[in-house]
Amino acid sequence: MKTGKRIKGLMACLLVTTLMIPNVAYGSQPPYSDKAIQRVMGKIYEPTTVDLTGMKVVDQAGAPLNAELKFMLFDTTIQEYSPEVHANNGVLDTTTLIKGHHYILSLADANYEMKNKYFTLDATGELPKDDKTNKNSDSPERESFDSITVTKREQTLTEEELKKVNRIPFCDDNNGAGKFVSELSGTVDMPDMADMYINDYDVKFKLVNQYETVELTVDEFGFLQGDMIEDLNYAVVMETTDPELQNYVLLQDLVTSKNHQEQGENVLTRTYTHYTCNPIGGIYLADSSYEEGQSMIEDCTYAPLPSYSKKSTLDGIRVFIDRGRKINTDMPGALFKVFRDEFVFNERVLEETDEKLVMDFDTINMHRDEICKLPHGDYTITTTLPTENEVQAVYNVDRAGNKVEDCTFTQEGSNLSIETTSVSLYNTVIEFKHVHEFEKIDGTEPTCTTTGVNEHWKCTSCGKLFADEQGENEISLEDTVRPLAPHKYEDGKCVVCGASDPSITDPENPDPENPDPENPDPENPGEGGTSTPGSGNISTPGSGNASTPGAGNVSASKKGATAVPATGDNNPFALWTILAFASIAGIGSVVVTKKRKSN
Ligand SMILES: [Zn+2]
Ligand SMILES: [Zn+2]
Repeated sequence: MKTGKRIKGLMACLLVTTLMIPNVAYGSQPPYSDKAIQRVMGKIYEPTTVDLTGMKVVDQAGAPLNAELKFMLFDTTIQEYSPEVHANNGVLDTTTLIKGHHYILSLADANYEMKNKYFTLDATGELPKDDKTNKNSDSPERESFDSITVTKREQTLTEEELKKVNRIPFCDDNNGAGKFVSELSGTVDMPDMADMYINDYDVKFKLVNQYETVELTVDEFGFLQGDMIEDLNYAVVMETTDPELQNYVLLQDLVTSKNHQEQGENVLTRTYTHYTCNPIGGIYLADSSYEEGQSMIEDCTYAPLPSYSKKSTLDGIRVFIDRGRKINTDMPGALFKVFRDEFVFNERVLEETDEKLVMDFDTINMHRDEICKLPHGDYTITTTLPTENEVQAVYNVDRAGNKVEDCTFTQEGSNLSIETTSVSLYNTVIEFKHVHEFEKIDGTEPTCTTTGVNEHWKCTSCGKLFADEQGENEISLEDTVRPLAPHKYEDGKCVVCGASDPSITDPENPDPENPDPENPDPENPGEGGTSTPGSGNISTPGSGNASTPGAGNVSASKKGATAVPATGDNNPFALWTILAFASIAGIGSVVVTKKRKSN
């Protein structure tokens, strides 16, 4: 263990030690009841939208602000940005919100500034409630507001300055102290902490979420420095190739910042771990080469967390939480008991068809009544499927339905285990391998006016066609069609459709397509010398030519006919084309009609 300047490190230790004094009042609180959990879920999954209308944007004198402004709107309840909101001539555009969700309206503008507005709205036409006007941000005693005050800056911000607006330092308070990296060993009940002067290592720490990655810098004292967007969850990620750190595992991995302007100007911001809502003491690493019972890794690695319905579990949380770290499997909802708060894992089925399930797996912070997103890690979610059908793919999708991550998975019957690098950020699509439901289509014989059908099997679910009932040989619609049969001439006329036999010449109507009607091809005599199937015209129905689609195992001659119809044509491609066209369009009879006209 390398050592460095320890003064600030000791401060970090002292802070953690302070936090570790048992708190009987909180510790003795009963876990959240079913009713409480359902209330929080009802709020998070609230389907009702409300419109914020006519909100005035005013200057400090209360006069309408004559400027075009663009506000950011963040839904803290589901931890996601809403579309940005514009203001013109002193009025905010009408904005659709989710009823009862907590929002932060903020402004990042080079010329204007405002204090962030924290609010909820319960009904269209009502005034929003200001969350910072009561200790309880859900209290009905909160004050309403009908305007947002925006102030003109004394000096226009540079682009670099603008980037820093509304960002919160990664630290305990608004003093920019940053976070020290410490090695934790021992057990959760008896932790042992040692400073790690991180400047001595080849290592980088990052804060990662779905919106950005913040590279943390290290100051001369070994403190990590950076800044965050308020209220967003970030995962702390360590990247190192330093051989001295190869055995080290990051323990605390989820941080968020809160603005506490309501508590006075001296307590502006604070960085918390979102698991417990405690201010974080530092970044903790544990050495995996320590013997069992001393490495801390085991103590900080949580058993799979059952979901509220107990149909799913979440594995992969590894965090140092100073007390109350047990999973409370005895209680309704099987909660993850951490400090005074509970952390609920919940799954919802958003869409269910034979082809797929769309699932929403959420981690919920009960104390803050909001989704607790886990933006980066190695998580395993297990869930019980409503079917044992074979799963063919699992992937995460964003709100627009775009695939963002392919997930590896294993399946045993209806039990599915999914590997994912995040939880609560995306919805999960579970695609089932399609199981065909076959309907047998009987074969029919073709005539000279209607095509026949080859026996085949059709899936009534997906519509695909197969030559066999095992569904191994998929065929096209054209493959199912049996070409038109030749005419059956008797006494110069087809007994089926009445067409004239072109081989018998009517001297008053010589066939222009048959230059020598008196001498039909001697190699293709008609049956009994009176009928000649085929005519030498390339549109002759029925061919027996192997290049005819779907004709490979089909006899083109009609049952009972003894003669093999000839094509009389040396261009099988042209014949194929016309037959295919006739089959696809189902216009075999039209071809016949044309033929009759040309006779
Ligand atoms: Zn099918
Ligand atoms: Zn006919």
